[in-house]
Amino acid sequence: MSVPTWIDAWTLEDGAARVRARFAEVFDGEPDGVWSAPGRVNLIGEHTDYNGGLALPIALPHRTYVALRSRPDDVVRLVSGQEQGSREVDLSTVAPGTVEGWPSYVAGLAWALRQAGYAVSGFDAVVDSCVPYGSGLSSSAALESAFAVALDAVHGLGLAGTADAPDDAGRAVLADACVRAENEIAGAPTGGMDQAASLRARAGHALLLDCLDGSVRQEPFDLAAHDLALLVVDTKAEHSHATGEYGVRRASCEAAAVRLGVGTLREITPELLPQALERLADGSAEGDVQVRRVRHVVTEIARVVDFVAELEAGRPGGVGALMDASHVSLRDDYEVTCRELDLTVETARAAGAIGARMTGGGFGGSAIALVEASAVEHVAGAVADAFATAGLHAPAFLVATPAAPAS
Ligand code: ADP
Ligand code: MG
Repeated sequence: MSVPTWIDAWTLEDGAARVRARFAEVFDGEPDGVWSAPGRVNLIGEHTDYNGGLALPIALPHRTYVALRSRPDDVVRLVSGQEQGSREVDLSTVAPGTVEGWPSYVAGLAWALRQAGYAVSGFDAVVDSCVPYGSGLSSSAALESAFAVALDAVHGLGLAGTADAPDDAGRAVLADACVRAENEIAGAPTGGMDQAASLRARAGHALLLDCLDGSVRQEPFDLAAHDLALLVVDTKAEHSHATGEYGVRRASCEAAAVRLGVGTLREITPELLPQALERLADGSAEGDVQVRRVRHVVTEIARVVDFVAELEAGRPGGVGALMDASHVSLRDDYEVTCRELDLTVETARAAGAIGARMTGGGFGGSAIALVEASAVEHVAGAVADAFATAGLHAPAFLVATPAAPAS
């Protein structure tokens, strides 16, 4: 029997103390302040954000912390607890393709804020994080969002509001800047779900995000009240092709939308789906691929609607079949799962999970399982055992509760 490894979330005090101490060591003196932003896990609605669809993420208790001190010039000096050495970037030279590696997310954000007309100068900053790295739990959005609220505060941009009264409209502006940073400077063609979750979620709630107009609705999400828990499994599967394949999926959806004469696939309702698929199936290989991609997107958006209906009816335990169907669709139609994700989902279900699915972009990363609160250890143990038997790297686990956004 394998003993599961748990990924603990730092307390806010602990995370802040870490980056403060490191800041004093590296840069001398005090930072202007400390900010943090959460990773996220998506309950359902995968690969829908860039199709104008719906997604339903929660913010994780796991956060990325930044201690930052503003500078009067354009110099950005960065240190991260997750990376070797220190990095320096001149903000005045930032443009697509100019910044290598992890500082591209941070310098990209400052660049995007400037592009949006906000006066942002250089800074010295120390980063540290307990968000699993590259695990589909959005450490990249946590990084961008922590800097977004930091720069908002030190430059008095007035976009984030306060921790007690967050300004959702202003946070949507910050989220847009984070998306531009990630797409245009870091070169990752992701949609907007991750940044919205990190900046616009609320503790105790799932965030129903409508990616067509960027509007959100806060859905109360209290599994503990129903003796349930959300188990997250970081499969540790390498996803080396993730960025390229992600771009290919996105391009396929865009091409299908053009062929169907719609702005986004959101316009294809479940009622219109059979007709749309018939039009796409022209006997070509690409036509067949588009049929499957579009079928995933349209049915997945419908599953978000059904999932929310179960929550609003006070039946969070009623979403199991929707989670299972989401995984099958991502596996067979969207083709973004992998051996580790499929094994996790199959094993969790066999061990008694109410529902399970991959979460995030796929090709590796994490899966989630909805389980009875008393069965968390049992299901985690079963997954750890299955990985050991299959000769795979040991996965890691956490229990997700909906936490607070960037502040
Ligand atoms: P995910 O967002 O699912 O964790 P990504 O590949 O989108 O995976 O983002 C991971 C990348 O984000 C890392 O390779 C690194 O470049 C950057 N990153 C995230 N968190 C940090 C951090 N704490 N310090 C430095 N870079 C980070
Ligand atoms: Mg990411």
